[in-house]
Amino acid sequence: MPRIPVVDQDECISCEVCVSICPEVFRMEGEEGGDHHHHKSFVYNPTGASEEKIEQARQPVSTGNKAKPVLRK
Ligand code: SF4
Repeated sequence: MPRIPVVDQDECISCEVCVSICPEVFRMEGEEGGDHHHHKSFVYNPTGASEEKIEQARQPVSTGNKAKPVLRK
């Protein structure tokens, strides 16, 4: 059973790193350029990429960004 990525949208600061690295799995939803709180990443296809690639999408989260997607069983 592969691990499933999950985004905690309360922590997401809309940096789009996960989406740019792994667009097969993550997407932004909500208004771009609008209220920050309505432009969040979500997982639309949890098995759309290998676990290794999803791990990469979790890595480069910049300083101060604690909202990495998590992997759950
Ligand atoms: S890397 Fe984290 S903060 Fe950036 S868009 Fe994805 S979930 Fe949100």
